[in-house]
Formats: sequence, C-alpha cells, structure tokens
Amino acid sequence: MAVDVVWFKKDLRTYDHIPLIEATKSGNKVLCLYVLEPERLELDDVDPIHIEWELENAIELSKCLGKIGGDLHFATDDMITTLEKINLDYGISRLLSHEETGNSWSYQRDKLVQNWCRNQGIDWIEYPTNGVIRKLKDRDLWKRKRDARMRENLYEPPEITNHAEFHGDAPSMIALGLNPRKLTNYPVPGQSAAFGRLESFLNEEAKQFQWAISSPTLAVKHGSGLSPYLTVGAISMRRVVQATNVRMEYIRKNKAELDGPTVWLKSLGSFRKRLAWRCHFVQKLEMEDNLDLVAQNPVIDANLMRVLDEDRFTRWKNGTTGWPFLDACMRQLSSTGWINFRMRAMIMSAASYNLWLPWRETGCHLAKQFLDYEPGVHWSQVGMQSGTTGINTIRAYSMTKQGRDQDPDGDYIRKWVPELSMVPTQYIHEPWEMPNELQETISCIIGEHYPAPILDELESRKEGIKRSYAARSSKESRDISKAVLKKHGSRSRPRKRRSTQKKLF
Ligand SMILES: Cc1cc2nc3c(=O)[nH]c(=O)nc-3n(C[C@H](O)[C@H](O)[C@H](O)COP(=O)(O)OP(=O)(O)OC[C@H]3O[C@@H](n4cnc5c(N)ncnc54)[C@H](O)[C@@H]3O)c2cc1C
Repeated sequence: MAVDVVWFKKDLRTYDHIPLIEATKSGNKVLCLYVLEPERLELDDVDPIHIEWELENAIELSKCLGKIGGDLHFATDDMITTLEKINLDYGISRLLSHEETGNSWSYQRDKLVQNWCRNQGIDWIEYPTNGVIRKLKDRDLWKRKRDARMRENLYEPPEITNHAEFHGDAPSMIALGLNPRKLTNYPVPGQSAAFGRLESFLNEEAKQFQWAISSPTLAVKHGSGLSPYLTVGAISMRRVVQATNVRMEYIRKNKAELDGPTVWLKSLGSFRKRLAWRCHFVQKLEMEDNLDLVAQNPVIDANLMRVLDEDRFTRWKNGTTGWPFLDACMRQLSSTGWINFRMRAMIMSAASYNLWLPWRETGCHLAKQFLDYEPGVHWSQVGMQSGTTGINTIRAYSMTKQGRDQDPDGDYIRKWVPELSMVPTQYIHEPWEMPNELQETISCIIGEHYPAPILDELESRKEGIKRSYAARSSKESRDISKAVLKKHGSRSRPRKRRSTQKKLF
C-alpha cells in the first residue's frame, strides 16, 4: 500500500500539525519522517548546538507520535536519496509538510525536492505555518492575513491508525562526528516543555516583561524563553498568540481581584507585539530568499567597504575587546546560547560601527552562537543593526552607556569577566581609567590581566556613524532604499519615540 510521507522539518510537534492530520485522513499508510541532511553540517550558519537541539526535540516528537499510534523514521542522508529509498520500498502517494522559510540552502533543497516530486508524479502539499504568507508581492495585506491566520483553530494530535513500519534510529552526535559546546541554562526539549514554559511565563514571569527585557540578567527570568522552541516548531506561533489573548482577556475580566492588572496588560501587549515582529521578519526572508547572502541595499553595503580584520573579529568573538560590558555579553552568549534582544543589537552594532566588520561574517558567527537561530529573524535583524537595509535609522549603541544603564553596579560584568572581579564599581565600565597603583593592588593590570580597549569607543563609533551616513547619500542607494521600503516596510503607523528610547545610543 502506498504511503503518505509527513516530512517534519521546523515543526517538531504533534499539536497544530495539519500535514499530520491530513495524512491520517487519507486512508493511506502514514510515514512520519525526520531527515538530518549531512550537507547542513557544512554550512557557515549551522552549529552543532543547533543539530543537537533539533535532534533532542525530534526524539521527544518520536515519543509523542508513539502515544498516538505512530513512529518517527529518522534518516541521515540527503532528502532526495531518502525519498527515493522510501519510494522504492513503498511507493509514495503524497509528501506532506509545512512550508519552510529557511536559509538559501534549504530554499535550494526545497526546489530540488519539488522537481523530484514533479518528475515522480508525486504531490508535495505544503501547508502554511506561523504568520508567513507565501507569494505576497508587498506588505499591503500582510498584517490582516497574518492576524487572520493567528485566529485559526488549534488542533489536538490525531490518532494514527495505519502507520508505516520503516524505522531508522536517531543518529548520535558521536556518529555524526559532532561535539557541540555544552551550554548552561539549556532548555528542556519537546512540546510538553514548550507548553510548560508558555504557561509559566503567562501566569508568573510575564508581569515584569516590559521593563525587564532590556537587561541581560532580568530578561533570563522575565523573558518568555520561547525562541528555541519556536525555532524547531515544538510549539506553534498560533498557540502562543491565542494563549496570550486568553490570558489578557482573563486579566481584563478579573481586574478587581488581580494585583497590578494594568502592568500585566502592558507587559503582555508588549510580548504579543514581539510575536508579530517574528512573523514580520520571517516574511522578509520569504519575500527575499537570499537575505542571508546579499544585503537588502547592496549599494550601501558596497559603499561601506567594511573589512574583515582578523584581530578585531577574533577579539569580538572571544569577548576580549577590552570593552567590559560587550565582553561580558559575548561570554554570556557563548556560555548559554542566548542573550536578550537589546544586547544582541548592541553586539551587532559594536561589530558593525565600532569595529567596522562585515555583516555576513559577524552574522554567521552569531547564528552559530544562538540556540534559537531563526534565519528570517536573524538576517533581517543583522541587516537592520549593521545599517545595510537603507530603511532603518542608524543604530550605533554606546556600550558604556548600555553597561551603566543595565549593569550599574557591575555585577554582571564581574560574573562574566572574572578578570575584572576585583575592580571597584567606580571603574568597572572603564577599567583602563584605574590608577596604576590600584591596578597593581587588585592584580588587574590593564593590558596584562585584561586587555586595553581595542579602540577608543567614542571615536570609533563616531567614525562608523559618519561613514554610514556617507554610504547612504548617493541617489542610487536612496532609490534602492525606497524600493526596499515599498516591498518590505511595515505598514503600521510609526510610533512616537519615547524619551527613554532616544537615549539608547
Ligand atoms: C542581531 C540580532 C539577531 C537575532 N537573531 C534571532 C534569531 O536568530 N532567532 C530569534 O528567535 N530571534 C532573534 N533575534 C530577536 C530577539 O533577540 C530574540 O527573539 C529574543 O531575544 C528571544 O528571547 P525570548 O524568546 O525570551 O523572547 P521574548 O522577548 O520573550 O519574545 C517572544 C518571542 O517574540 C519574538 N521576538 C522577540 N523579539 C523579537 C525581535 N526583536 N524581532 C523578531 N522577533 C522577536 C521571538 O520569537 C521571541 O521568542 C535577534 C535579534 C538581533 C538584534
């Protein structure tokens, strides 16, 4: 009997899984498939931590499928070879999956799969996922369509009564020759853990969300921490949005009995906006499939003439620039695989404006650092924060100011940069200002125990801003920026800047 193959990609869950539901309705045997394609391991933006996280979530999915009568077949091969084998053994009736908006590599792979299916006379049915709308030419109707998508039904896992026996085990990291770095604060994989995280966040930690998320320490507790789950699709975006709406409705109805309902509503409103941003950014990649390779405004990018200075690149990556707050952020990121939005933006700004490094290389390094690497969000943000879209204001953060705002006592710096653990608060953000005598007393000699600043922060930032404005000034670059804005610009009305936002930089 022919099989319906359900190809699990970035949707490692049994809830809200329409391809799986459709396959179980067809009367064909159902073969649930997860494919680890070895070519991926060679890509510049893929890290062993991504593969490990994905595999652990796939193993959890396999257990969940077991509970509803199914099984997950793991293959470690390229997709076409895998499909050929299954077709030979069974005869594939249909291939069902969610749409994927991935990097350039997965886009090309999908085109190969499409061709293969066409040549074999096999239907590949792709179902929409998240808030991404395929085949849109511009953003005029995007928001309405995305919001309608978010209101669609949620689905329970279906029962699989006719699953195909075709079992391959999950490959081990050793067999794959991978040795991922060990992350601290590693999330628990799987859809149950994702649901638990969402529930706990909405009922407990989210109250402080709005003002806590700018701090690299407070955001660990009061941010949702959902991004690694969303990236592998252990939970659907629609479920997160609807659960947030339900919670907000509950708070509105029970204002009188609740502590701080206005605070709750503000924070949850702010969270819900970020969920929409995720869809907005992934949509950009959907409409510009090589965003990970080519800047949105290539003329600005060329005019910038940024240089891959190896020393600067290495010191930025290792957190040894001599700028304490930046170094602390880079080390937290390397150790945990996560850092909050504000600090991601600052890290990218330091690389782009102060150190004048090219976005593709710094973007790839960050992609490999983030457990939650999501190409659509990532490359859109890298473009924005490096000033290569032409449609966003130049965001060159002052690291010293961010450090003083987010870590006034320096405890965060001392935690992640232990070389500075004895430095008094007065000097923690600019340790090079310490008198020599003090440096000797606390055994923290700048240039010996901790590096002297790689560049003058203020001057390098000023220079970076100046060169960035110059790179935008030609008519050709302005024309491209206008076209980018027309195609990708948000259609929401611009918000009035609050005074606190002005002081970011
Ligand atoms: C240079 C740079 C690279 C980034 N790369 C990624 C990436 O690869 N993957 C990724 O998920 N996020 C990325 N972000 C966005 C953001 O920093 C993370 O989504 C957020 O820190 C994840 O933590 P959280 O789940 O606790 O988020 P919360 O603050 O709890 O937000 C909830 C969800 O909203 C979405 N979200 C939040 N902030 C943003 C934002 N600014 N833009 C788009 N979506 C957002 C995420 O899906 C997040 O999980 C990047 C930001 C920058 C500046």
